[in-house]
Amino acid sequence: MTRQSVTEIRPHIRRYGELTSLEVEAAKRDEALLILPVGACEQHGDGLPLSTDSIRADHVAMAVAEELAAAGELTVGEELGVGEESCAAEGPAGDDTSDAGRAFVLPSIDYGVSPHHGNLPGTITLDPRTFVDIVTTVAGQICDSGFTRVLVITGHGGNMAALGVAQQVLLSTHPDLVFAYSPVSALAAEANAALPRTEVSGHSGESETSQMLAIDDRLVDSPRLTAGATDLADLSPRARLSRTKSPASAVTFDQYSENGALGDPRTATATAGVDILGEVIEKLVAYSREVLRL
Ligand SMILES: [Zn+2]
Repeated sequence: MTRQSVTEIRPHIRRYGELTSLEVEAAKRDEALLILPVGACEQHGDGLPLSTDSIRADHVAMAVAEELAAAGELTVGEELGVGEESCAAEGPAGDDTSDAGRAFVLPSIDYGVSPHHGNLPGTITLDPRTFVDIVTTVAGQICDSGFTRVLVITGHGGNMAALGVAQQVLLSTHPDLVFAYSPVSALAAEANAALPRTEVSGHSGESETSQMLAIDDRLVDSPRLTAGATDLADLSPRARLSRTKSPASAVTFDQYSENGALGDPRTATATAGVDILGEVIEKLVAYSREVLRL
């Protein structure tokens, strides 16, 4: 029996797990980008959910896939000579969509590297080596099956070092794979700079809480939001030293504040969250287009 094949992937599909096996073959032929959201299951102050980092990573990954797909549909419409004017009017201003490609969001990795939050309730962490193993196994199989481009989006900054290790491992085992990784919050330099942030700020603080309010405010227990560590002078000497970026040292987050938060999440707003996420998505869409042109 001859196996079937498809040339077109159903246009509404964004998630890799929603593709059929036949469509996966088509996605490979199209040299699609696969986006892997990674997060964490860890304590996030008194008002944010444990999966905050996974939720934000998935939100951004889906938005990037959505924008790339929209640009692809625009290109098809233009090629067919259908509705050129309306398509042009709806398209993102100044976008070069001539070589737009599609992206699919892989099933996410919702546990991360969180030993530094381990003393606080709710945290489930992977050993960093296990995390590296999972990422390199998934990305390696993706490459072995015929895909060549992977973008990891991590909502958890604590995964960045392990992702750097995974990248080096993959560079030796799968040198043809384009394996890129990016944080979420740290990418929004402009929108974060516009926030009213305390001297000490970060985990479960103004930026992260704003993003969650923008994604789904029902997930934020707003009345319970409380300030964590806000001033360097109030930190213990070792905790204060760990705020120096380089040389880098680390402490467990219960040493920063009782509620494990950095900053004052009570000043967070959904409007700021929309700006932060918008900047992140815009930058990752532009980067993804570069990757798809390779
Ligand atoms: Zn977080």
